[in-house]
Amino acid sequence: MLLHPREFEYFAPKTLHEASLLLKKHKSDSKVLAGGYSLIPLMKLRLASPKYVVDINRINGLDYVKKAGNTLRIGALTRYHEIEYSDAIKRSCPILAETVRGIGDAQVRSRGTVGGNLSHGDPANDLPVAMLALDAEFTIRGPSKQRTIKASKFYTDVFTTALRVGEILTEVKFRIPGTKSGGSFQKFERRAGDFAIVSAAAQLTLDNQDKCKYVGIGLGAVSSTPIKVQEAEKLLIGKVITKDAIERAAEKCKEVSSPTSDLSGSAEYKRDMVKVFAQRALHTALERANSNKK
Ligand SMILES: Cc1cc2nc3c(=O)[nH]c(=O)nc-3n(C[C@H](O)[C@H](O)[C@H](O)COP(=O)(O)OP(=O)(O)OC[C@H]3O[C@@H](n4cnc5c(N)ncnc54)[C@H](O)[C@@H]3O)c2cc1C
Repeated sequence: MLLHPREFEYFAPKTLHEASLLLKKHKSDSKVLAGGYSLIPLMKLRLASPKYVVDINRINGLDYVKKAGNTLRIGALTRYHEIEYSDAIKRSCPILAETVRGIGDAQVRSRGTVGGNLSHGDPANDLPVAMLALDAEFTIRGPSKQRTIKASKFYTDVFTTALRVGEILTEVKFRIPGTKSGGSFQKFERRAGDFAIVSAAAQLTLDNQDKCKYVGIGLGAVSSTPIKVQEAEKLLIGKVITKDAIERAAEKCKEVSSPTSDLSGSAEYKRDMVKVFAQRALHTALERANSNKK
C-alpha cells in the first residue's frame, strides 16, 4: 500500500481572494487544504492526487464563533475542539458541542475544521447531520462573488457538493434556538470516535402550548448524502409531540433511508437502526426542550 502522496505544488495564500483565484486557475487539479484529516489520508492512499494544494490556514479571520442578534456564525477554520469548549455554543446551541465530542479522537478534534467537515461531502461525517437539523446556511466565496446556500441543498451526491470551481466555504450560520428548544445528536458506531454506521440529529422548539414550533431532523451514513427528513418533520410541526408521533416520524426516517450492506451490517439492519436512533434523537431533544423553559 502506498503511503506517500504524488508530487504536488503547495500554496499558502494569505487572502481568500488569492486562494479562490488559485483554485479557479488550477480548476479540478487543485484542492483546498484545511485540517487535512480527510484530504491527507486520501492523498497518501492516492485516492486523491491534486497537482496543486491550496492551504487556507494562513488566511486570517476564518476562525470564530460569533453571535449576531439571534444568529450564530461559525468561521470555516474553526476547529472541532473550539466548538466543544465554546461557551457561546454551550449556551446557545449545545447540539454542536455534543456532535463534535464524538468525532475521531483528541488529535482529530484539535485539527479538523468545521468547513472541512462540511465541504468534504462524506455522507458519514457528523457535522452536516447536525447542520441539517439546525437548518443552517453556508456562505461560499468565489473569485468574484459570495453566495449562500442552505445545508439541505449543499449535498448533491456521494463526496459531491454544490461548491463550484474556485469556491471556498467560509462560514456557516443558523438561527439560535430560543427557549423551550432542545437538540440531540445520536451516533451508532462500533467504537467511540469511529465514523457513524448510522447517525441522527434532531432539533426542536416548542411553543407556549407545548406544540412543535420548529423541528429539524438530519440523518447521516444511510444514503449517498446526508439527508434532511422533511417528510418526518411535517408529521411533527404544529402538534404536541407524543411518543406515537415520534414513532411515526422515526418510521418515516427509516423509509427515506437507503443504506448499503457492508461489514458493519446489512442494509436491512441499518434501516432498523435508523428508526432506533431517530427515535432516540427526537425523545432526547424533546426532553431537553421541556427542561429548557427559562
Ligand atoms: C482517525 C480519524 C477519525 C475520524 N472520525 C470522524 C468522525 O467520527 N466523524 C467525522 O465527521 N469525521 C471524522 N473524521 C474526518 C475528520 O473530521 C476530517 O477532519 C474532516 O472530514 C475534514 O475536515 P478537515 O478540516 O480535516 O478538511 P481537509 O481534510 O483539509 O479537507 C477535506 C475536503 O474538504 C475540502 N475543504 C476543506 N475546507 C474547505 C473549505 N473551507 N471550502 C471548500 N473546501 C474545503 C478539501 O479540499 C477536501 O476535499 C475522522 C478522520 C480521521 C483521520
